[in-house]
Amino acid sequence: MDRNLSTVFDADHDDLVEHFERATYRGREYFYLPDERHGVERGTVVAGCAVVRGFPSIPRVLVLEPGVPDFFDGPVTVEEKLNGYNVRIARVDGDVLAFTRSGYVCPFTTSLAADYPLDSFFDEYPDTVVCGELIGPENPYTTHDYAEVDEAALRVFDLRDRESGEPMAVERRRERCDAYDLSTVPAFGTHEPDAAVDAIREAIADLDEQGREGVVVKSEDGERALKYTTSAIHRADLAHAFDKPFDYGQQFMFARVIREAFQSVEFGEDEATARERAREMGESVLLPAIESIRAVEDGSTIGDTHTVRGDPATIESLLNRFRAVGLHLDIEEDTYEDDERVVRFTKVADASRDKINHLLSGGTIDE
Ligand code: ATP
Ligand code: MG
Repeated sequence: MDRNLSTVFDADHDDLVEHFERATYRGREYFYLPDERHGVERGTVVAGCAVVRGFPSIPRVLVLEPGVPDFFDGPVTVEEKLNGYNVRIARVDGDVLAFTRSGYVCPFTTSLAADYPLDSFFDEYPDTVVCGELIGPENPYTTHDYAEVDEAALRVFDLRDRESGEPMAVERRRERCDAYDLSTVPAFGTHEPDAAVDAIREAIADLDEQGREGVVVKSEDGERALKYTTSAIHRADLAHAFDKPFDYGQQFMFARVIREAFQSVEFGEDEATARERAREMGESVLLPAIESIRAVEDGSTIGDTHTVRGDPATIESLLNRFRAVGLHLDIEEDTYEDDERVVRFTKVADASRDKINHLLSGGTIDE
């Protein structure tokens, strides 16, 4: 690592360096931090002379009142929380690279980034990291669909100093993105903290109806942020987890049960509405699990299915990476359309399949 990290982080240099993992992208060496250490964010990257800080974790509130007014002491902007995957895009030694949350250079996302007018942006702001959510169909990580998005698309929610991780003020950031034709996440206005509670409730009701994820509430300087999510996404997450019930921890379920319970209380639901919420939540857990047990019984593959398209070398390197980290891929379609390679594959949920097979054949469980 040719960068002395003690000039960047307030942490013991030797100890921190030890925790970075080495990786390469097109022959270029870089280092990433797979877990948070000494207050340095997970996903922090050192590549040549550049340091790109990891994207910080955003705390969650379970009740908007008094959660929001207690957390902020000035006006807040309410932004939509989009459900895709987190990407950070920076220009390192002349190349625009896209990093995943864990700090790995994703060849697929890096290739998508080339479709955005980022070169002129980085000419002007070389030390900025563009942080956004990659949403839409045909991506290798998430399966949530947005009616208005018909291909993988970037929505920017932060411009940060890549070395210090300092965010830009929200309004300035939105203006700067507009100036460079970078699409930003939708927003629901700026409000005083007390008034924000009602604005968020309205936004959440609307988003819930459309099956969308939720909001991230931010202080004007961008320094403080809170997230809050819809019942629709709690159910969608549960359904997504329970169609491979043994691949996700029980923690995952517990967190969502608790979010639903607090939301029901805060929304002042009557008995019938709470009962309806309970029924819908039960269905989103149980029905996908039942369907998956049937699928395994029939010998079908279970897991998440994705389609990706791109230049053949990019797609090859993405699939190689997935296999290298131990994912078991079932390739369902592998074709060429013009110069692009199009692959539909399932990330096979081996743990769930094996456990379901074991139980279906009368195996025992220790509980
Ligand atoms: P963590 O708890 O570490 O943040 P996570 O991936 O589980 O991890 P999420 O619950 O998905 O976190 O919420 C945070 C993520 O939401 C961000 O990392 C970012 O990718 C995404 N996001 C979507 N829209 C926004 C937005 N408007 N502002 C900030 N983040 C957003
Ligand atoms: Mg997310």
